[in-house]
Amino acid sequence: MQLDPAISNPAVEEKRLDDGKWPNLTFILGHAASLDLASQTLSLSTGQSISFDRLCVATGARPVKLLGVTPELAGQILTLRDTDSVEKLAANLERARSVALIGNGGIALELVHALHTLDITWIVKHAHIADAFFDIDAADFLLDILRARRCAAASHARKARGEAAAGRLVIEAHSSVRSVRPGALPGSSTIPPATRTGLELELSSGKRVAADVAVAALGVVPNTEWVSGALERGPTGGILVNDRLESVSALGRVWAAGDACDLSVLEARPPDGSQWFQMRLWTQARSQGILAAHAMAGVDEETGASMAFELFTHVTSFAGHKVVLLGRYNAQGLDDEPAEDIRSYCRTSPPDDQGRGGTFVRLLLRKDRVEGAVLIGDTELEEAVEHLILDRLVVGHLMPGLLDPDAELDHVFD
Ligand SMILES: Cc1cc2nc3c(=O)[nH]c(=O)nc-3n(C[C@H](O)[C@H](O)[C@H](O)COP(=O)(O)OP(=O)(O)OC[C@H]3O[C@@H](n4cnc5c(N)ncnc54)[C@H](O)[C@@H]3O)c2cc1C
Repeated sequence: MQLDPAISNPAVEEKRLDDGKWPNLTFILGHAASLDLASQTLSLSTGQSISFDRLCVATGARPVKLLGVTPELAGQILTLRDTDSVEKLAANLERARSVALIGNGGIALELVHALHTLDITWIVKHAHIADAFFDIDAADFLLDILRARRCAAASHARKARGEAAAGRLVIEAHSSVRSVRPGALPGSSTIPPATRTGLELELSSGKRVAADVAVAALGVVPNTEWVSGALERGPTGGILVNDRLESVSALGRVWAAGDACDLSVLEARPPDGSQWFQMRLWTQARSQGILAAHAMAGVDEETGASMAFELFTHVTSFAGHKVVLLGRYNAQGLDDEPAEDIRSYCRTSPPDDQGRGGTFVRLLLRKDRVEGAVLIGDTELEEAVEHLILDRLVVGHLMPGLLDPDAELDHVFD
């Protein structure tokens, strides 16, 4: 799979399904409630039954909700799931000064970046931030950017309006939330006490955190309960499928794609064949949708599956920096490999005091071949590293010189 920006970093736009002009498409507004494989029928919550020859399940996933919240506070804990909830968040934050942020993935990281004028207590259950995406060195690189940006914003505000102080960023590592209760509004709050109560979060460490608003960004769980009993589900709760996205319980009849499927069968393959793993992302949902459609129509090319599952690629941006993740960039699926076979090399150029610029490059090698990479900032290395991974070139003897900014990577391919 070549790194084509149009494929790897798609623009997502919401459209009504019935806007399309496809004469063979019947659009039904409804909620799938159960599946009967024997009669090949799908029942909707309205009671309507739909029979099928072939079925594709693409019901996605929903965000995990925070537990331990007293019912009267449920409305004050925001869970991000779509554009509506982002708008709700923006409205809630208008008058907030302090935010408790729970979660450690890309959404949490982006929120810390975007809310740089607010006090944030960031509650993460791992040892360091952004554990889902980065090792500790890359996480530290981003944390420096986040902190520099906060200071720069505060100094800008001071110059403009004579205001002081950057929003505080406190990280509570190795912590999860045990309970959320009504609490006093934090001293810094600008919300009138009469209009709203504050929150008090009790952490697993025993600490108590006061906040105006809490935001939960805790990952997702597949929307597949309604097929239970009919189709086997995998360890993540998705419908267990093979590399043609057929449900292992209903080959040739039911397919599943996107967040609703579980591809752990592929992840169990030995690492030599592929540097791909499942992560619930738009790009993966899109390519799986195409693959499932081809397989269902019987027009799948032989190379389709091997291409789709050859190399993990994700292009995104965190804290205003371009981020490219390639292959098993964080040693995913390599836990059982002998430690002496795994080596990682890193090159950093720090950001300026405003948190701008700077690059971070990490290559992960297994048996002297590049297995994955994290590229942050304008490194312009993505294509070369993609080829290094796909071509399975032995480059261990060229390290760490290969990471030298002046090294000519192209010569490696000659
Ligand atoms: C807040 C947030 C931010 C994200 N940001 C990024 C990002 O920056 N980059 C990225 O690559 N990915 C991102 N993702 C992940 C990305 O949105 C998903 O991977 C992708 O949308 C999955 O596509 P899908 O078609 O499988 O499922 P979805 O897009 O979730 O679509 C599933 C649809 O099925 C419907 N449905 C559910 N159950 C039923 C049922 N029983 N009957 C009928 N219909 C049902 C749902 O209402 C929904 O319309 C983000 C996710 C979230 C929650």
